[in-house]
Amino acid sequence: MSVASLPKVELHLHLEGAAPPAFIAGLAKEKKRDIGGIFDAGGHYKYKDFWDFLKVYEAATSVLVKPEDYHRLTLAVLEESAASGVVYSETFLSPDFCGGRDVGAWREYLHAIREAGDKAERDFGITLRGIITCIRHFGPDKARETARCAAETAGDWIVGFGIAGDEKIGAPKDFRWSFDCAREAGLRLTAHAGEWGGPDSVRDAIRDLGVERIGHGVRAIEDLALVDEIAEAGIVLEVCPGSNIALGIYDGWRKHPISQLYERGVKVTVSTDDPPFFHTTMAREYEMLNRAFDWDEGVFEGIARASLDAAFCDADTRERIAKKL
Ligand SMILES: [Zn+2]
Repeated sequence: MSVASLPKVELHLHLEGAAPPAFIAGLAKEKKRDIGGIFDAGGHYKYKDFWDFLKVYEAATSVLVKPEDYHRLTLAVLEESAASGVVYSETFLSPDFCGGRDVGAWREYLHAIREAGDKAERDFGITLRGIITCIRHFGPDKARETARCAAETAGDWIVGFGIAGDEKIGAPKDFRWSFDCAREAGLRLTAHAGEWGGPDSVRDAIRDLGVERIGHGVRAIEDLALVDEIAEAGIVLEVCPGSNIALGIYDGWRKHPISQLYERGVKVTVSTDDPPFFHTTMAREYEMLNRAFDWDEGVFEGIARASLDAAFCDADTRERIAKKL
C-alpha cells in the first residue's frame, strides 16, 4: 500500500487558493471577465514569486463575487481533497473576499459554503470546518471588521481565527485587538509566521497573539532554542512543504526542515496551503515526504492523529473522524 492512500487530516488550506484553475477559468468565462494573464499555456496558475503570487491569487479570487460562486468553489475544492484521501479539512475563509467584511453579507456567503460542506460530506465523505482569517497587508483596521464577522458567526462550524497575507507588512501586535475579540467569542487561534519571516516572527505571533497553532512556522528551525520552546509548549505547526519548496524557501524536499522539527519533538502536521498554485495535492505531499525522509505508514498515521488532536472542531466531530483514521 502506498502512503498516498492513507486517510488524511488537513489543517491549512485557503479556500480560494485551492480553486482548481479550470474552475476559475470557467467562472471567468461565464461572467465574461478577462483574467487570462494569470494562466500559463497549460492552464495552470502563473506567477514569478510570492508577491506576484498574491496578485494572481487576488485576480483569481476576483471572479468569486456571489455566495453561489463560493458554493460551487467549495464543492470543487472538497472533491479534490477527498480524492486525495482527506477525511477532515479546515479551510481559511476571508470575509474580505466574501461580502467586503459586512456581517450580513458574510452570513450569506457562509451559509452557501456550509451547504456545500454538508453536500460534500454526504457525497465525498469529507468533513469541513472554517477558520476566518484577516489579511495582514490590508492592515489592522480591516482586521477588526473581519474579527467582528468572526465573532458574530463563531460556533460549531466557524471554529477558529487567524491571519494570512504578506508577513513582511506590519507586526503581530498590531492585530492583538482582533485576536482578543476572536478569543472572547470562543474561537481558537492560529497565525501565519515563520514562512517569510524568521524565528522572531514565530516568537512574536506566540507572545503577542497567544496562538496555539502556527501556519508554517518552519523557519523556527533557525533557532533551536525556539524549536524546543515550541515543542515544550505543544504548539502545533501547520507545515506545507510543497508550498515552501514551490515558493523557493527551501531548495528541494530533502532540505525541508519538517523532518528535523519532527525529530526534535515538535507537533508537525502536513497541509497543501494553495495546492493548484503549487502543483501539489495531499497525496503528493505524503509521497514526496515518504521519498525524501523514508517516513513509513506509522509516521503518517501519527501525523494524522496529531493533526486531528490539533483540529479546532468539537469533541463529537473529532471522535467521529478518529474512527476513519
Ligand atoms: Zn497559508
